[in-house]
Amino acid sequence: MNINEHGASIRLEGCTKTFADGTLALHPLDLSVQAGETLVLLGPSGCGKTTTLRLIAGLEFPDDGGRILFDDEDVTHTPIEKRNVGMVFQSYALFPNMTVAENVGYGLKVQKVKAAEVKQRVSEMLEMMELGALAHRRIDQLSGGQRQRVALARAIITSPRVLLLDEPLTALDAILRDRLRADINSLLRRLGITAIYVTHDQDEAMALGDRIVVMDHGRVSQIGSPKEIYFAPQNDFVADFIGQINTFEGQVSCSDMRLPGGVLSGVALADGQGKVYCRPEDIEVINSANAGLRGQVHQTQFIGDRNRIWVKGANHERVVIDTDGRSEFKVGQEVGLQIRPEQMIVLDRRAESV
Ligand code: ATP
Repeated sequence: MNINEHGASIRLEGCTKTFADGTLALHPLDLSVQAGETLVLLGPSGCGKTTTLRLIAGLEFPDDGGRILFDDEDVTHTPIEKRNVGMVFQSYALFPNMTVAENVGYGLKVQKVKAAEVKQRVSEMLEMMELGALAHRRIDQLSGGQRQRVALARAIITSPRVLLLDEPLTALDAILRDRLRADINSLLRRLGITAIYVTHDQDEAMALGDRIVVMDHGRVSQIGSPKEIYFAPQNDFVADFIGQINTFEGQVSCSDMRLPGGVLSGVALADGQGKVYCRPEDIEVINSANAGLRGQVHQTQFIGDRNRIWVKGANHERVVIDTDGRSEFKVGQEVGLQIRPEQMIVLDRRAESV
């Protein structure tokens, strides 16, 4: 089934949002979403994700001067029912007194689609969402994961131009969340719907987003593919917010950074005080005799596919390292650390010109 070959492209231009009580939730926001793209809004609580989603839905309106365009059509003041958006929330917002099939068919009935066609499309949709066997169940007889599937089916059956999802998986347990995440991912790609997905869960953002918008205090901090956000954060906020990261700060001289636990070589920074980041999986544990950086294993944690170890040098901040799950480390063991220059994340690009 191909409901919607091309979703709409979306553009927000200079969208500021001030609430009635004076709260400035969004600083002027510019955002472009391509047709068929899944864009994830990611950020800590209160950063403006839901407000952005509500502006796109037409549940809130931007301050004067802001514009919202769907496929170059100005919808800034178009009410929600005329925007053709589907929405899925954390709380399922299903009709509890209706069956699964009635819930899923509701939007088509509102659109006055003929009963025979409603029946046909609902049955196709239920098959696609693996809900066929539950068509006649009431909502209160379903599990959380099944309810969220029904909510998704109900949102996409009317072929919305845009699908808006606000933390749809937060209420579910970890295993179900993983499964549904994969289902949503393949569904969005198969249907080519333009989707905006709000979450504060980084793993979810990485798994689902074609691009991720990291937001901080009502502003965009960085926009990029999951890999760009993870491997090339553009600022301290994004580096610290996404995944585990180590920070090394010290005096740099001729590409050597002096740290309490030794010397980090190959730092692409100009001489002076500097900072680099490094992901736990990009640090290699080597024989301490040959290492510029040394320390003692302070703590270990087996996570199955990897061993996470924390290493502490003399007066040294802790360094977190992910090693192979089969590696063996003992607390107190002396180790050396090696970080290849290409695995250091440098925010300060001054060095490129020296
Ligand atoms: P969360 O992850 O907690 O849902 P969020 O990133 O979605 O957070 P928003 O709900 O967009 O954040 O809120 C952004 C800011 O606007 C917050 O400071 C919030 O308190 C404020 N805010 C949201 N709705 C209103 C409102 N109706 N009136 C006043 N302030 C509001």
